[in-house]
Amino acid sequence: MKEILEKLQRRIAEAARACGRDPRSSQLVAVTKTVAAKRVAEAIDAGVTIVGENYIQEARDKFNTLYDRKVSWHFIGHLQSNKAKYAVRMFDLIHSVDSLKLAEALNKEAQKLAKVQQVLIQVNISQEETKSGTTEDEAVDLVTAVSRLDHLQVMGLMTMPPFFDQPERARPFFRRLAGLRDRIARQAIPGIRMQELSMGMTGDFEVAIAEGATLVRIGTALFGARQ
Ligand SMILES: *Cc1c(COP(=O)(O)O)cnc(C)c1O
Repeated sequence: MKEILEKLQRRIAEAARACGRDPRSSQLVAVTKTVAAKRVAEAIDAGVTIVGENYIQEARDKFNTLYDRKVSWHFIGHLQSNKAKYAVRMFDLIHSVDSLKLAEALNKEAQKLAKVQQVLIQVNISQEETKSGTTEDEAVDLVTAVSRLDHLQVMGLMTMPPFFDQPERARPFFRRLAGLRDRIARQAIPGIRMQELSMGMTGDFEVAIAEGATLVRIGTALFGARQ
């Protein structure tokens, strides 16, 4: 695990350096869906600092085992409003806010815990029907609406482009998310930060970093193929 992780960290740092970015400006989110708690613990021992989970129930099981580990928990999957309570209890950053209804549910639960929940707005750049996320056109309105919720802090944007065999083909989608981030940042909406861009997975993270990714979500390259 340690060797695989170090090699991956080197590739991430190298991709950042190659385009003149600070090698620390792109962070690894180790995607742990279907990965047993024991292996997640090994990854944390090897140096993983952020884990990304897709499913609330699966995350709860692991969280209950690993809650005392020094690691940041991110939620990257599709989130239903009725699971907001659990999400707010466990996660430092929720990457997948894609509707005002979900944002309001998270805000309500965060208020109960006196927490300010950090979130990203998920944008469906490719407009594939199977993908969640707000549209590019609606993103500004959603960010503005979320900015009025006292217990949520928008930190940036997230996207998942279509799957391609050639990573270069994902580049236009990453570039469009970065462009959208810049446009929203220029509007200087009070209370909104646009510092994070969550994009790039095992097959295309180097291209995503070249286009400005600050959080790359990687599972397969770290844990091997999922069943
Ligand atoms: C599974 C998953 C990933 C990681 O994909 P890999 O190709 O295994 O690196 C990243 N982001 C999301 C939202 C995922 O569901």
